Amino acid sequence: MIEGNKFRDVGANVAIPPGAQVIDLSRMTVMPGLVDSHNHLALTYKPEPENNVYYYTYVQDSTALRAIQAASNGIQMLASGFTVVRDLGNNGNYADTALRQAIDQGWIPGPTLVNSGIIIGGMGGQFYPSPEMAKNHSIVYPEYLDADTPDEIVKAVRQNILFGAKIIKICVDCKPYGYTADEIRLFVREAAKSGLKVAGHVQTPAGARNAIDGGIFSIEHGSALNDELHKAMAAKGIWRAGTETPMGLAGHPVTQQAYDRTIAGLKNAYENKVGLTFSTDADYFVAGKNRGELCLEFLRPWRDAGIPNADVLRAITINGYKAADIDKVRGPIKPGFFADLIAMPANPLDDVDALKNVQFVMKDGLVFKKDGIMTPAAFFHSGPVNGWRIR
Ligand SMILES: [Zn+2]
Repeated sequence: MIEGNKFRDVGANVAIPPGAQVIDLSRMTVMPGLVDSHNHLALTYKPEPENNVYYYTYVQDSTALRAIQAASNGIQMLASGFTVVRDLGNNGNYADTALRQAIDQGWIPGPTLVNSGIIIGGMGGQFYPSPEMAKNHSIVYPEYLDADTPDEIVKAVRQNILFGAKIIKICVDCKPYGYTADEIRLFVREAAKSGLKVAGHVQTPAGARNAIDGGIFSIEHGSALNDELHKAMAAKGIWRAGTETPMGLAGHPVTQQAYDRTIAGLKNAYENKVGLTFSTDADYFVAGKNRGELCLEFLRPWRDAGIPNADVLRAITINGYKAADIDKVRGPIKPGFFADLIAMPANPLDDVDALKNVQFVMKDGLVFKKDGIMTPAAFFHSGPVNGWRIR
């Protein structure tokens, strides 16, 4: 039984109050909404016009256009059953915050966003701006926030929090002058003052070691992680958002060798009992698939790694809620929690691909999709019905 935006009662013999609307999902599998622990909703790089180079997306697409793309991508994610997305940067000038506010204030439907604002890194971030770009900060900035000294680290964290970040995302080792464990500790300490966690993009074993020693909350991308690092992550309870890309996505070729490495890494993490999240980094356009359908293609590496279905479901729900740091309010279908749930005809415990056929989606107690068809009218408002002060 749902009242307002929360579950009020759950069980086989809940009394139905007079006047209640009854939704019959008795022939479906009902479960909590899905979590993509790593995406970028305001980034969609494309074969045309930028040849799939996101560096050029920044030049081609304004922040305003990207915010509208993000709104569309969020709706597509929700339609596929993703009720929570950790949105980790590359969103222009805070398009991610705009989307979160628009959803939370009640303008449009979308997943609950845990967004990072601008990615913080040493000079240049993940980009290689020309000296002119770096000096004037007028092109390809503000895609990254430069923070090269302790003062700049503190200031960058504060800027992101001021402008609506709910998690801090850093480039641990995007450049040879990556962050030390001490510098990462400073990020963690400053973010913690405001109750935020720190997620780190990692691409080298040395960077991973610094991130682990520095007390990072989650490591983004699994390519640099090995057996020893996995053991250290498991010992410290650090989340792994491995962003395992499947083979066979049109326009995004993955070599057999690279894929084998991805699968071996995921397997090794699983065997070491690292906290695994389902994470895609699916921030591009693949013809014939919407953003939600694209993300569900990322189930394939989990199947190929031989991860049991129940553990894939843990990664895409329970662990996702924990890595989003919202598991105390959202996720479990229990009284007092926000009423998000999805349903599908088959049982994903038998075959996780059943998740590709989500027919029903409820978000915050409102029906977003029913019988396979989006019915979002109740989510659209001409004003901030949940309050404009939501920042
Ligand atoms: Zn990413």
